[in-house]
Amino acid sequence: MTLPREIEIVGGGLAGLALGLALRRAGMPVTLFEAGLYPRHRVCGEFISGLGPDTIERLGLAPFLAAAGRLTRVEWFAGDQPVRRQILPAPALALSRHALDARLAAAFTAAGGILHTGTRTDPVATPAGRVFATGRRRGVSPWLGLKLHARGLPLTGELEFHLGRDAYVGLCPVEDGWVNVCGLFRRRPGLASDRTAVLSAYLTAAGLDNLASRLAAAEIRPESCSAVAGVSFDRVAPARDRINLGDAFAMIPPFTGDGMAMALQSAELALDPLLAWVKGNATWAGTVQLVNDRLRRRFRRRLSVARLLHPFLLSPLRQRWLAGAVRSGCLPLRPIYHMLH
Ligand SMILES: Cc1cc2nc3c(=O)[nH]c(=O)nc-3n(C[C@H](O)[C@H](O)[C@H](O)COP(=O)(O)OP(=O)(O)OC[C@H]3O[C@@H](n4cnc5c(N)ncnc54)[C@H](O)[C@@H]3O)c2cc1C
Repeated sequence: MTLPREIEIVGGGLAGLALGLALRRAGMPVTLFEAGLYPRHRVCGEFISGLGPDTIERLGLAPFLAAAGRLTRVEWFAGDQPVRRQILPAPALALSRHALDARLAAAFTAAGGILHTGTRTDPVATPAGRVFATGRRRGVSPWLGLKLHARGLPLTGELEFHLGRDAYVGLCPVEDGWVNVCGLFRRRPGLASDRTAVLSAYLTAAGLDNLASRLAAAEIRPESCSAVAGVSFDRVAPARDRINLGDAFAMIPPFTGDGMAMALQSAELALDPLLAWVKGNATWAGTVQLVNDRLRRRFRRRLSVARLLHPFLLSPLRQRWLAGAVRSGCLPLRPIYHMLH
């Protein structure tokens, strides 16, 4: 391929936008295709765990995270009963995707990136220079993700984490007094059809009645009510013939609060190899291999540990064991955090 080479990014979530922005700042030609529009609410717990200063610096993210809350404590609940407050091993950042993605998209275009929104691109074709940041793969799965923003919902801790029947739910303060309520639930077809009532119905079905009552007394942001079905955490062999970043590479169970950090870190890991390719210093096949090796090395242990722990948050017997460990102060939060990062 002759120079100048261009990068084409498919998918404008955190991975795609962060990569696009960093490439533009390095003066590289980048076009990004995003199926949706900005701003937009996404099913996400909206707390970012494990994002280090190196990634923030390398991707120039500090201005976008300046407004994020810094959370240091979590309160655990099991079946509606408060269990324990714990200090987080490291502060988490809290910011809505509605705000963060839109700010990154605006910065990308301001930096000269070409952004096509409302444009779904062929996710199969893999010409040289095309990078996929298309989010999680759709799978067959019993798990459903639900989220909404509520106001007038005072939190008992900076972050609340509730274990329910076949479910877990996180509450996290985002901007302007809104609290993000987001959970993973076993799908119960026909439970509720009204968008704004679905989450409450699932909370009640999960035995989280107090939380459902607190939500009923709060103001709901109707446009924030979102759902994703088919959320699957099955191990899928990573592609070798293309670059998949963020959830398209692998989806980590959401309890870790690590998915957004991984999306950004995957953009960071891809940046230098892509810069070398655009400048004509590498072949596309070599670039694909290098990026995939970097992603595998960086995320292998984190994904294994998270997948091992995830059933403890969802199956009733293991949840009881987990709640007991939290209550007695035996849950080794710090070692788990370090194994995940
Ligand atoms: C229930 C739940 C709770 C979560 N909670 C948290 C949390 O608290 N903290 C955390 O860090 N992570 C959390 N996550 C995970 C986090 O949301 C993801 O890891 C993160 O969004 C991944 O970013 P991404 O850029 O890879 O993908 P996405 O943000 O999903 O972006 C992918 C983009 O690609 C676009 N796209 C897809 N296909 C095409 C196509 N063919 N053409 C054009 N565009 C396309 C989509 O429209 C989308 O905008 C949670 C996930 C779930 C399901």
